Amino acid sequence: MELDKNNAENEISRPEPFIDIDAKFFWDGLRDRKILIQKCLSCGVLRHPPCPCCRECQSFDWRLVESSGLGVIYSYVVVHYPQLPGLRYPNTAVLVELNEGIRVVGQALDDPLAVSVGMAVCAEFIAERSLSYLAFRKA
Ligand code: ZN
Repeated sequence: MELDKNNAENEISRPEPFIDIDAKFFWDGLRDRKILIQKCLSCGVLRHPPCPCCRECQSFDWRLVESSGLGVIYSYVVVHYPQLPGLRYPNTAVLVELNEGIRVVGQALDDPLAVSVGMAVCAEFIAERSLSYLAFRKA
């Protein structure tokens, strides 16, 4: 049976990520349209992805700082297959180096042919069910 594509996009959501206790703040932040980054209270290093202790000094003390959401594309890949439900294809996955100096993964909202390494981007947030996903658009 072939699903009606428009109908399928309305009814089927993308697979949800596994969110552990260490990353809960990040996903809560995305829901509030914020990119939250851990900052070590001992040495001041920013880190992402979330983890309980600093990779530089092994301190467990940290606080959150909010990213500007601005950065440049460090790398990207245009995914054609395999196609997961709830996503549009081709899907451009980008690794963005934020102005704060850390890198995050998101989805490019621009045409795949317009995406390039070094392109300035700004964050967007895609709300879907109870989560929000990080995306980027040309700045
Ligand atoms: Zn540290």
